Amino acid sequence: MSKTIVVTGGAGYIGSHMARLLSADGHKVIVFDNLGRGNADAALDAELVVGDISNTEQLAPVFQNNKVDAVMHFAAFAYVGESVHEPDIYYRNNVSGTLNLIDTMRSFNVNRLVFSSTCATYGVPESLPITEATAQNPINPYGQSKLMVEQILKDYGYAYNFRSIALRYFNAAGCAEDGSLGERHDPETHLLPLILFEALRVQAGGDPKDTALRVFGSDFDTRDGTCVRDYIHVNDLCSAHTAAFNRMLDTPELGAEQFNLGVNKGYTVLEVIEACRKITGVDIQYHLVDRRDGDPPELVADASAAMETLKWKPAFADIEHSLQHAWDWFSKHPPAKL
Ligand code: UDP
Repeated sequence: MSKTIVVTGGAGYIGSHMARLLSADGHKVIVFDNLGRGNADAALDAELVVGDISNTEQLAPVFQNNKVDAVMHFAAFAYVGESVHEPDIYYRNNVSGTLNLIDTMRSFNVNRLVFSSTCATYGVPESLPITEATAQNPINPYGQSKLMVEQILKDYGYAYNFRSIALRYFNAAGCAEDGSLGERHDPETHLLPLILFEALRVQAGGDPKDTALRVFGSDFDTRDGTCVRDYIHVNDLCSAHTAAFNRMLDTPELGAEQFNLGVNKGYTVLEVIEACRKITGVDIQYHLVDRRDGDPPELVADASAAMETLKWKPAFADIEHSLQHAWDWFSKHPPAKL
């Protein structure tokens, strides 16, 4: 049955893919985004309300004017390195803004939320792969800010019967297969886009030796010394949100739940670069530089709880599809400056 769903951050990378999927499934979607880091045209056909989650006057009318069934909350700052150096914006936006969002929801009796959490809440995990029972000890303010919200949601679940599912994403990758949406961060700091930008630069005639691509840290205790991450296709993240939404409808009494979303496969930074060389056919070079602040060596998901409980299965089990889709997108939408 068609529902009305507010997608905060729906003009951003993952949020825009989610809004598109919900619309395709026949739901009414309201994108709420301050466009600080999102792009208005990424909202596609969804209704776009420009506003900030920390501003109740901008937020409340959305709930006043619509019978909202649930919120999917993507609006957040999400750069590990930046969070170490500018923690204030992470705590203000990710924690205080989210608190304002859920209190506004409650004042309109809207009590279903799918929350974008992160594997960064685990910090340096005590064992791998990471399950939901792995201790959460974040080592950067980004992860800390998301963990704080998870705690708020647990407490609200208990006290107010507020229903939520926190999805702990591992590394989002790829984009819409039909090329209608992609990844457009400004500034871009994520590994995959930066590697593909370098490929575009060389493809356009740049000298591979002039590369600005940096590999942060080559002395980690991993198979080649660089960080290992679990890359999951953005479409698979989105299908898990749909599954989480359906579960909340079926089990309103369960309070707060949390699930890992990954594919249980880790790639080092150098392996990702090698995979990009194969997909692009370009000689991609890089500099080995110091570690970036706040980076754990290895994050790989055990997502079996999501698979069993949400009855979800990632469609793309390896990184190649993500890279191919991202490459198709960036080839058609190169950044203004390479
Ligand atoms: N990374 C890198 N060079 C870059 C950007 C990222 O070596 O220019 C590394 C980063 O240190 C991490 C991995 O690539 O180990 C993934 O980083 P990204 O920022 O894409 O995602 P995160 O894991 O921080 O969410």
